[in-house]
Amino acid sequence: MCYMPGMLDFSKKDSDLSKFYSFYNNTAYYHYLNNHEIVMRMHLVFEILDGLYEPEMADRKLFDLLLKYDDENYRRITPYIIYFILKRSGVMFDLAACENCGTTDETHTVAEKGLYCDTCASQLDISGFCDKESAYIIKSMSNSALYRNITVNRKQELQVLKALAEYSAQVMEKPLKSLKTVLSII
Ligand SMILES: [Zn+2]
Repeated sequence: MCYMPGMLDFSKKDSDLSKFYSFYNNTAYYHYLNNHEIVMRMHLVFEILDGLYEPEMADRKLFDLLLKYDDENYRRITPYIIYFILKRSGVMFDLAACENCGTTDETHTVAEKGLYCDTCASQLDISGFCDKESAYIIKSMSNSALYRNITVNRKQELQVLKALAEYSAQVMEKPLKSLKTVLSII
């Protein structure tokens, strides 16, 4: 899969090649291609988008979010966009309650199937992808005003992306091709 900024004319669908011939490059978005950090993350975002959204589903808010990428915010915005896609698709796990027992206390473990409290995590022997700080970053996503002021460092981004991407892969029932590469080079 390859990320290219441009516009696709969905009204031209008379042949199998329509998606190729009705694609127009938009140079206004080319600055993304000059930033390797953003391009790499876009591969992962679009692979998840491809797996969860209906083909050609319009989502203006998602488009606006993608346009917010800049040279400073990519560590913070990438996990948020994945969260947004999961939420919009109706499959995001509960950010407040334990997946197993439903308690809202001490929920610090983010695993492949969602969020767990400390007691269940230890009983079920689930280690999770995130430390407490990274779990807090994910839990903050339900409050966009709070999340906007959060800083995400490289270590946290790796944990948060892995957690959300592994959860997405589990929902999509197929591994994400771009995940290993993205995590190894960002
Ligand atoms: Zn629990």
